[in-house]
Amino acid sequence: MRLRNIPGSREAIAENSWCIQDPEQIKGNWHEVFKNDHPIHLEIGMGKGKFLMTLAQQNPQINYIGIEKYSSVLLRGLQKMEEEPLENIRFIRMDAETICNVFQEGEVDKIYLNFSDPWPKDRHAKRRLTSRQFFARYHLILKKEGLVEFKTDNQDLFDFSLEEVEKAGWKLEASTRDLHHDDNMNQGNVMTEYEERFSSMGNPIYKLIASR
Ligand code: SAM
Repeated sequence: MRLRNIPGSREAIAENSWCIQDPEQIKGNWHEVFKNDHPIHLEIGMGKGKFLMTLAQQNPQINYIGIEKYSSVLLRGLQKMEEEPLENIRFIRMDAETICNVFQEGEVDKIYLNFSDPWPKDRHAKRRLTSRQFFARYHLILKKEGLVEFKTDNQDLFDFSLEEVEKAGWKLEASTRDLHHDDNMNQGNVMTEYEERFSSMGNPIYKLIASR
């Protein structure tokens, strides 16, 4: 999601109390930010944050952190938070490539990747959030029993991701090529903005869950 640059979005984010300014300083101490020991779930590439905010409302016993690369996109999420503040959610504007500088080994319980950018050119494969390079990063920050949950409408990216799960030495816990018609995997599904858009166009939604 690449919105038109919104002038002043960087400054607005710098002043926003839901947005963590120097996340590297908090590495290993995220529970102090939330003032509790609840599990920490991340969404990487959260876009405008609808998915994460819905989960945060439904699960006050879980802490959610949304990571987004672009200020203009993140700003939309922050504006929604002003309307309906939630104690168990924070945001970071960063490129997930450096995620290991922000979370300590085993500090995270679950990672959601929703409708991640496909980076269709082969030479950009390592930028895909489900590449083995990213799974190596997730391996470091996730607890031993931690999960990665990935949804997409992009068949090529899904096929690539299934291969990468294996090449990264992870296990496929579950997968479907039609989430919305899979009663088991669709239970409790929270739709993202992209998911609503693509499924209303008739595209099937793919999902996988990976563990180690
Ligand atoms: N997850 C949302 C959804 O399903 O509606 C947004 C999907 S959008 C296609 C992908 C988002 O991931 C964009 O907002 C993009 O800026 C963000 N993104 C892509 N690569 C990223 C990275 N390396 N680190 C952080 N955010 C990233």
